[in-house]
Amino acid sequence: MFQLYNSLTRRKEPFAPADGETVTMYTCGPTVYDYAHVGNMRSFLLYDLLHRVLKHEGWKVAHVWNVTDVDDKIIGAALERGVSVQEQAAPFEQAFFEDLATLNIDVSEVQFPRATECIPDMVRLVERLIERGHAYEKDGSVYFDISSFKGYGKLSGVEAQSGARRREFGRLDQDTYDKDDVQDFALWKARKEGEPGWESPWGLGRPGWHIECSAMTLKLLGETIDLHAGGVDLLFPHHENEIAQSEAATGKPFVRFWVHGEHLLVEGQKMSKSLGNFYTIRDLLEQGYSPPAIRLALMGAHYRRQLNFTQEGLRRAEQTLRGVRDFVHRVRQTTSKVPDERLAEAVAEAREKFEAALDDDLNIPGATAQVFELQKAADIALAQGRVTRAQAEEVEGTLEEFDRVLGLQLVPAVEILDEDVERLIEERQAARAERDFARADAIRDELAAQGIVLEDTPAGVRWRRGE
Ligand code: AMP
Ligand code: ZN
Repeated sequence: MFQLYNSLTRRKEPFAPADGETVTMYTCGPTVYDYAHVGNMRSFLLYDLLHRVLKHEGWKVAHVWNVTDVDDKIIGAALERGVSVQEQAAPFEQAFFEDLATLNIDVSEVQFPRATECIPDMVRLVERLIERGHAYEKDGSVYFDISSFKGYGKLSGVEAQSGARRREFGRLDQDTYDKDDVQDFALWKARKEGEPGWESPWGLGRPGWHIECSAMTLKLLGETIDLHAGGVDLLFPHHENEIAQSEAATGKPFVRFWVHGEHLLVEGQKMSKSLGNFYTIRDLLEQGYSPPAIRLALMGAHYRRQLNFTQEGLRRAEQTLRGVRDFVHRVRQTTSKVPDERLAEAVAEAREKFEAALDDDLNIPGATAQVFELQKAADIALAQGRVTRAQAEEVEGTLEEFDRVLGLQLVPAVEILDEDVERLIEERQAARAERDFARADAIRDELAAQGIVLEDTPAGVRWRRGE
């Protein structure tokens, strides 16, 4: 049975979509004011692994992942550089999608709405909150009245302070604040000098950050969704405020399961530019690490534990993956006719433990360990010359299945053998002699697809393996 830790109930619970078929899932995306760092990527990888595992469990997944393309940070960066907010955000949005592709994060079934495309939805939601008595306008800005919502604090455990105390502190305009500041927060912000603004019933302005996720969820997924994920830093105030906004507007529970990923540390410390341990995926590629190794290194701890990301860990991941690929080559070359009984058992056991690990609150390190268990068992059998072709295929097939969840490119494509290349070249020569140029070209293309480059020389056709 698939179980997930739910931050709302603070325990592990059996998870299934409410309708038994499609998981409605919302994940808090990037603020595209700069390149994403490896910490952000750890959270994005968690979203990918959740998505893959939910599919693996047999459900469909309706997944919305927002892109914040207007907020305090983007406006600040744009003002500093003297460019428009759009000019500031667009290249980093593109970089975000490139980084997802690098890490083999499967976005084929994900919807990525931008904040600036959903402003009318946010305005309507703010109007609804005013109508229902949960929000009030002041000087062209609109604030959520947290004393009007009984459930405030149910996710994070913070307590809404008394009205008098809150008035003393005033209300908050900035998007992020800490737990000592439990305050009314901005849903809509009056435009300030030099900032972009959108028309609204309260004059020109722009949305607060929290309202974006509520508006997109309600619009694209519904009033009660199955799962909402983000990094732990978002639990308060962001997710607490999302619950308040959404439930005050609809009167229904907003999210059934809240999933929070722990932070990533680099070389044992919080990432910071001044410490020189602030990495983007691009930095790591420049240092020569391969994408699957970066992905594996980011998967090195359970998602609810801090992960210490180190150069040493990256080197180890690189070695481990090389080991698995070499192993696959070895398995492919087996010619034995005698099956190994213990290997059959080992395959079954690895599969079982793989499933059990995924079911146990998405234990990805536990599931990944089964790759190495399988490798160990098969290597012992290979050393004794007891792996048949059928067993080799079963081992390879099992690894491929595991990799549909893990996404580590564990099983390299089968390489075309030299003798097959030579046979195809002869066939191509024969086709040419018969003036069947279409066939000759088709063979050239087929070889090119396998990375084989042909050169016609006076001495005949030469070939080599290209890039
Ligand atoms: P941001 O672009 O800052 O809104 O963050 C995007 C995602 O990255 C959010 O889910 C954050 O919780 C997450 N995040 C930020 N810093 C880290 C970190 N050091 N480790 C893991 N996740 C992080
Ligand atoms: Zn969010």
